[in-house]
Amino acid sequence: MNKPILKLQNISYSYHSLSGEVPALSNISFYVNQGEFLAVVGPSGCGKSTLLSLIARLLEPESGTISFQNPDGSLNYPGIGYMLQHDHLLEWRTIFRNITLGLEIQHKMTPENLAYAEHLLDEYGLKKFKNKHPGELSGGMRQRAALIRTLVLNPDILLLDEPFSALDYQTRLSVSDDIGNIIRTTGKTAILITHDLSEAISLADRIIVLSDRPAVVIRDLPIRLTTHDHTPLGARSAPEFRYYFNLLWKELSHEK
Ligand code: ADP
Ligand code: MG
Repeated sequence: MNKPILKLQNISYSYHSLSGEVPALSNISFYVNQGEFLAVVGPSGCGKSTLLSLIARLLEPESGTISFQNPDGSLNYPGIGYMLQHDHLLEWRTIFRNITLGLEIQHKMTPENLAYAEHLLDEYGLKKFKNKHPGELSGGMRQRAALIRTLVLNPDILLLDEPFSALDYQTRLSVSDDIGNIIRTTGKTAILITHDLSEAISLADRIIVLSDRPAVVIRDLPIRLTTHDHTPLGARSAPEFRYYFNLLWKELSHEK
């Protein structure tokens, strides 16, 4: 558990456009342990999505290094699963054909992988919807299907870019609880971007706080809640919750 699977050291990144240079990240360093649930919070536009794109290797850092250590000691870059605000389910495919899309693209439609897809659908309450189309599912179920589509590829690290922010508040609480549980039971390492401080405190083992653009790490905060009830409501009623919330709020509003 306490072994870093991924380490970022002095990462900087700027966008270059016709109107000039936009520095997005400045000298960012942090690590993520194997099996850890890390949340990243920061003001809108500070560079959070950019950070995930760098980890996913969709962008190359301008300077700094991203290194990793696979649990089995292998030197492959960790398998990355990406989940976004919009589920991007394809309406013309059934739920089963949506969740196996990645397998199809990667030519991995093996009987074992298809059985795993069936197992995940069953385990996470979507078995009945296997042959339905996305439009027939609620927003929460769709996000669960999007998570299964990611898990079926058995990624080492899950990157979640504000995956609940398109949902209404009620659904958001239950889906974040649901998805938090799924990630914990599968023992996946996860990095969750969110601007919802309560969500970050109730889900994460540790929170990285970023400043305004260009983002620097202003806090690396371990979260310890003395409650066994890790549902969103349970976490919110833990005695430490208010302390963490106030601390993060102050960090982000420069009220120190
Ligand atoms: P966040 O996810 O924290 O809201 P982003 O990582 O999406 O922020 O963006 C960081 C900054 O970089 C923003 O100011 C945004 O406008 C800018 N930016 C993002 N993508 C591009 C791009 N392709 N070209 C130029 N600027 C960009
Ligand atoms: Mg973003």
